[in-house]
Amino acid sequence: MSQIARSLQETRARLERAARAAERDPAAIRLLAVSKTKPASAIREAYAAGQRDFGENYVQELVAKAEELADLPDLRWHFIGHLQTNKAKLAATVAGTIHSVDSARLAAELGRRAGGRSAPLVVLVEVNVGGEAQKSGCSVEQLGEVLDAVAAQPHLQLAGLMTVPPHTEDPEGARPFFRRLAELRDQHGGASRLPELSMGMTHDLEVAIAEGATQVRVGTAIFGARS
Ligand SMILES: *Cc1c(COP(=O)(O)O)cnc(C)c1O
Repeated sequence: MSQIARSLQETRARLERAARAAERDPAAIRLLAVSKTKPASAIREAYAAGQRDFGENYVQELVAKAEELADLPDLRWHFIGHLQTNKAKLAATVAGTIHSVDSARLAAELGRRAGGRSAPLVVLVEVNVGGEAQKSGCSVEQLGEVLDAVAAQPHLQLAGLMTVPPHTEDPEGARPFFRRLAELRDQHGGASRLPELSMGMTHDLEVAIAEGATQVRVGTAIFGARS
């Protein structure tokens, strides 16, 4: 078994343990393998081990890898990085899901660019729950407006919320931010409108699952450290 296959197996086991500890169904939590900076060959290895959902942060890199891996038709690309409006067209062409919509303007542009797709583009709205100046994501105050802008677009499917909490040494430090994202979901239509909560990474996926994550985005634990 390759190192990546082994790491994937360990990560899936982590996810399942965390789900059971939270009395949740592990099958209701999707594992995204975050492959940014890693070569297409690493993605191929993960794919061979059964992984289908991959997260990328940079549009150029996503497009290049999607071309290289076009022979893997059921591979699902998730865009999780900061998205500039001028890259919306490319992202909307290649990705199935965008986790990082953070303005009404970006939602409108994606909606315009998603018209040629065979299926709606799935969209999550990223919230800067910690209010950090350097982080992307809309503010808590802007969230309602951004959600409405996504919902107004017929070629976009509003699916949920995403966040990256402020970094803390102790993964428990992320808990209040994950909990806040779940509260925001409840305040903006609940799970029927916003079924997905994209939160939790290598460092804190157990805490995220305990707080209701439906998608965890894991890079380092699967592919190793990034240089
Ligand atoms: C890089 C990245 C991840 C994965 O982080 P790891 O700590 O390597 O698991 C998850 N989400 C986002 C938005 C990222 O940029």
